[in-house]
Amino acid sequence: MTNCLIRRYRRGVIDHEVVVVGAGFSGIGMGIALRRHGLRDFVLLDARADVGGVWLVNTYPGVAVDIPSASYSFSFEPNPDWSRVFAPGAELKAYADRCVAKYGLRPHLRLGTRVERADWDEDARLWRLTTSSGPLTARFLITANGVLHQPKRPDIPGLDTFAGRVVHTAEWDDSLDLTGRRVAVIGTGASALQAVPRIARRAGHLHVFQRTPIWVAPKPDFRMPAWARTLFRRVPVTQRLVRAVTNAVVELFLVTGVTQYRRFPFLVGVIEGVCRRHLRRQVPEPELRAALTPSYGFGCKRPSMSNSYFPAFRRPNVTLVTSGIARVTPSGVETVDGASHAFDTLVLGTGFKVIEPDNLPPYPVRGADGVDLGEHWARHRYQAYEGTSVPQAPNLWMLMGPYAFTGYSWFGMIEYQSTHILRCLTEARRRGATRVQISPEANARFFRSMLRRSSRTALNRPACAGSNSYYVDAAGDTPLLRPTSTLQALRRSRRFDLDDYRFSA
Ligand SMILES: Cc1cc2nc3c(=O)[nH]c(=O)nc-3n(C[C@H](O)[C@H](O)[C@H](O)COP(=O)(O)OP(=O)(O)OC[C@H]3O[C@@H](n4cnc5c(N)ncnc54)[C@H](O)[C@@H]3O)c2cc1C
Repeated sequence: MTNCLIRRYRRGVIDHEVVVVGAGFSGIGMGIALRRHGLRDFVLLDARADVGGVWLVNTYPGVAVDIPSASYSFSFEPNPDWSRVFAPGAELKAYADRCVAKYGLRPHLRLGTRVERADWDEDARLWRLTTSSGPLTARFLITANGVLHQPKRPDIPGLDTFAGRVVHTAEWDDSLDLTGRRVAVIGTGASALQAVPRIARRAGHLHVFQRTPIWVAPKPDFRMPAWARTLFRRVPVTQRLVRAVTNAVVELFLVTGVTQYRRFPFLVGVIEGVCRRHLRRQVPEPELRAALTPSYGFGCKRPSMSNSYFPAFRRPNVTLVTSGIARVTPSGVETVDGASHAFDTLVLGTGFKVIEPDNLPPYPVRGADGVDLGEHWARHRYQAYEGTSVPQAPNLWMLMGPYAFTGYSWFGMIEYQSTHILRCLTEARRRGATRVQISPEANARFFRSMLRRSSRTALNRPACAGSNSYYVDAAGDTPLLRPTSTLQALRRSRRFDLDDYRFSA
């Protein structure tokens, strides 16, 4: 059978053994894992002209990671040169470039290639991709196309009538000079939180339109002293120790606190207390403080950290607007209380499409029996075995499928998901299998366990009502979060039963 496989390649029926869609950190991590396991016949496709994914396009003022960089990096590729505890976005883009160069991924890149659809060909046992650069076939398809890559424009009447400049934080124009301008930011999520203090310093006046306040913790951020960088370079174990500490803190508060809420409710209580104290210290004015205080519980929506966000609202040139937006007019915004707010530049800090049929997946995927994956999920709820494979789509794995991400660093997820996928690919090679499919029973078992565990997370408590969280889908499920510890997810990726898959030659 292996010979038959090789002959098929020679006849040019299959262009590549593996196609990975996406060259952000997920695609890069997957590419590194493939090369390490000796799989060389693969390509990384990306619609954009360069690698780095979110770190290529999110160049808005103040963009940075919101967990410590020691944890937000590959475990096997520490970077002693982070300039700060929480590195700015440009350093993440540079880190992506370095990983691509160091691990020999350049020859595998097919940039400027958008995947428009993927169809499973049962007879030939391969995926047929329609791309902006022409058709492509692959025995195995791995999606690493991220989640937060389609900017969301708010559905506000009149938005198109605005006469000034409109820019989304994820489509920033680096030549945009906001000095002295009258600027408005719509949204107070994680990106807006980083941009607001920087814009406030430049703008003549800044209006911030807030629908739901964000939970903000103090940010233990500072410039990495030169001696620390030297130490990390000369004695790498010291940086590994720092990573162990930052991992433990993130895991305790963001993963255990949220996913194990029923068992350890005090953890969320501790963080809420820290955030409230932070707000009290930074904003003495009771009215402003009340307006910035979330009415929902911590963990229901993505929280963040900042030392400069709250103080920005105390500046004389910043106005916080909490009345709902009625419409955008050519000169600004009218709010539901009848007030008009004039400005000349509108910044949309309104986030991304998340759990929506044209984002998960972002292109039509037709699997076995022509089942459309997006429609299937919409009808039967989002689910994937170990957050990566679905019975309806043989030979396909997702880096970030439903119930993949524990809430720790994205890099943790990339590492355990690529471990899972590599075990499947290696086994397929060993058995000479051309078709690998997760069994419906294994998928159903995993989904049941995710639902059971999800009911115990912080997202499923009354305090989340009205939080308007993108973690929750139309069925009331929370598929963006894998309700297990990161260690458990890692252990499962190494030990899940390969017999949960059906390998056929
Ligand atoms: C501003 C910002 C800050 C963040 N900070 C953190 C943080 O501190 N910690 C954390 O854990 N996470 C953070 N995240 C989450 C972040 O999404 C991940 O950490 C990670 O970088 C995502 O990597 P990815 O490769 O999975 O996706 P992406 O970086 O989105 O890359 C996906 C790639 O797939 C490509 N693609 C998509 N569709 C197609 C198609 N049809 N055809 C071809 N190519 C396609 C895209 O062009 C993109 O380059 C942040 C996200 C944002 C937006």
